[in-house]
Amino acid sequence: MKICIVGGVAGGASAAARLRRLCENNQIILFEKDEHISFANCGLPYHISGKIRRKESLILWDKESFYARHNVEVRTFQEVVAIDCEKKELTVFDKSRDGTYQESYDKLILSPGAKNFIPPTAGLKEDQLFSLRNVADMEQIIDFIRVNNVTKALVVGGGPIGLEVGENLVEKGIAVTLVERAPQVMLPLDLEMANILHQELSKKLKLYLSTSVQTVRKIGECSECSDCSDGIKYKIKLSSGEEFECGIIIIAAGVRPEIGLAQKAGLAIGKTGGIIVDEHLRTSDPHIYAVGDAIEVKNFVTQEDNLIPLAGPANRQARIASDNIMMSQNKDIFTHPPTYRQTQGTSIVKVFALRAACTGINERTISKNKKYQYQSIFIHPLSHAGYYPGAEQMTLKILYLRGDGHDDVKILGAQCVGAEGVDKKIDIIAAIMRAGGKVYDFKDMEFCYAPPYNQAKDPINMLGFISDNIRNGLVRFIDPVKAQALANPLYLDVRTEEEVSLGKIPAALNIPLDSLRGRLPQEMPKDRTIVVYCKVGIRAYSACRILMENGYEKLYCLSGGYKTYLQFFPPPLELNSSSVISSENQSVQETFIELDLSGMQCPGPIVKLRAKLDQSANGERLKVIATDPGFARDIRAFCNSTGNTLLSLKQDNNIITAIVEKRMSDASNCATVHCATAPASSKKTIIIFSNDLDKALASFVIANGAKAMGSDVTMFFTFWGLNVLRRRDVSSTTG
Ligand code: FAD
Repeated sequence: MKICIVGGVAGGASAAARLRRLCENNQIILFEKDEHISFANCGLPYHISGKIRRKESLILWDKESFYARHNVEVRTFQEVVAIDCEKKELTVFDKSRDGTYQESYDKLILSPGAKNFIPPTAGLKEDQLFSLRNVADMEQIIDFIRVNNVTKALVVGGGPIGLEVGENLVEKGIAVTLVERAPQVMLPLDLEMANILHQELSKKLKLYLSTSVQTVRKIGECSECSDCSDGIKYKIKLSSGEEFECGIIIIAAGVRPEIGLAQKAGLAIGKTGGIIVDEHLRTSDPHIYAVGDAIEVKNFVTQEDNLIPLAGPANRQARIASDNIMMSQNKDIFTHPPTYRQTQGTSIVKVFALRAACTGINERTISKNKKYQYQSIFIHPLSHAGYYPGAEQMTLKILYLRGDGHDDVKILGAQCVGAEGVDKKIDIIAAIMRAGGKVYDFKDMEFCYAPPYNQAKDPINMLGFISDNIRNGLVRFIDPVKAQALANPLYLDVRTEEEVSLGKIPAALNIPLDSLRGRLPQEMPKDRTIVVYCKVGIRAYSACRILMENGYEKLYCLSGGYKTYLQFFPPPLELNSSSVISSENQSVQETFIELDLSGMQCPGPIVKLRAKLDQSANGERLKVIATDPGFARDIRAFCNSTGNTLLSLKQDNNIITAIVEKRMSDASNCATVHCATAPASSKKTIIIFSNDLDKALASFVIANGAKAMGSDVTMFFTFWGLNVLRRRDVSSTTG
């Protein structure tokens, strides 16, 4: 049998190798229109930065080595331009000879991949833009940057390739502007999960969301800037009206199936725009198979036709198409006829210090589909035991069906954003989904554990426990958007006062969990719907149990707590804020008091820092190291509200280093009162930082004294200061 294959990379090369392993006698010809076969497209972005140092390591086989190993005839620079299905014959354009010829086949596999989508943009010319699909594209980008000394780049598109290209350009020292037309990057994620990536991206590059490139003008081609003669810079105008210049434009606005050849041959094309194949990966022509980015696949969850262009599915499909071709030659070759069992869309992308992974479908897709009654759960576990150095927090979201009888609890999808361990969690869930497991099975799973690698209660177990609690009516979970839709809910924040001082849901009532039991009758109305939250959901669940045991019924637990709330309602992105505050002379700075808070979670680092500052003298500097991702935000808020000076804040691979100069009076030795007095002025401002009643009273004495001396006095209570008004022990004051 003579088997021809169109496309020599992921699907094509895998199919050729499998076909040869199954039979030594068949003739196999692999056509590739470009120079290289079997290269690692997924590694291309990382050579741009030099992270993958050698280009050669991306090229797994060349035609000679592939022939030597597999006895497959590889024809590079040969483009298949037509298929005559009747004659079973290909027309091939040989680029090196600039001529065409015919080649017959018995069976044909198409693996032509995808092509880049170029969004229509005024002034954007093909020869002015770059995209990244193969080794030649990568080399062109690297050469252009080097020759033209490019320092500023525009990347269009916030999908995985755009993000990887953006990151690697930044790693190369280029200032990147990334423009995404949708309100979020990484569309397989839900918006609130992508929001975590937005925060990370905006530290490293300029990120524009819900924005498109309106016009591109080559500098030197317009009358206004005819004096700019270097000819390589572009003036970009965005739909938001903003304008900037850049030296290179890279388009990564998504891909479309490469179906030109199939379409011309009359093969059936689906509504999605991909080649239609059956479960044997046979096209509408029984002698032609198709695999990879060019085909439409059945979605494992929805059973709908989808385009899911990923390397894993392309490789698996190549094996199955090859097996089916071999079965057409020898039907007894396999005891179990190989079929392609749909695509889950399991994928991962690195975004600077973070990783984002997902499997199945997201909530956006689910909400469009009325047939799904679903439940979402958010958790924010650590990658391993918190007390072992280097633990990093991740956000894990699962979506599953809630049938009326709670029997049909099919897992619909999961998403995870964080650092270490993200891939593992999603891979486990993907495997359980594939095996037909239910979310309740998670509680019985047994995973390896030792402090450097995991938590004794694996996050997957935790999802199982929570779903089990929900099914048994022990708690009701709600997400922040659905909570906002409730009629006049009362938010109950059960975190500590320190945590609340760093931010809370507007109008929330704060009763720390440990004092909740004593404050129920006075402060908690039973007739109002209460939404309880803490930082990540664990204390809120305990609070819900206390409330339920005390007869509260209109009760919800905010899934994932305040951390999830901030994902849904994130603070505005600071454009290229580079969350890094840098003070010039830091390198020559004298000694610091070192405070290593690695592995601690909020409010731990802030509580420890505060205690350390209380022991420090005014003007002393603390070098604080933390790994809690929220610490960068918390320390800014802390310094703003306490008057200490944040001299520098840096983040390097999840390690946050802050230098704080003590700027408040010594809390332990004197009243924590700042008296900012201008000698020549008759106005005095007193700031009360402490929640110690004696100190607050002392500040009133000082205020009275100043007033008696004829000054205008303003007293300002910080959040901690205000806490002096709180009654800690209700029983002793009421009873
Ligand atoms: P390809 O591997 O693209 O191969 C198609 C080949 O066919 C091309 O070389 C093309 O030149 C050739 N061809 C097309 N038409 C003809 C013709 N008429 N005649 C002869 N030859 C032809 N996926 C992941 O899962 N994870 C990742 O991290 C990831 N990163 C990626 C990064 C980049 C930069 C790119 C471009 C893709 C990435 N992908 C990733 C996607 C993944 O590479 C593809 O899903 C996979 O390669 C698809 O395999 P394929 O065989 O269908 O197409």
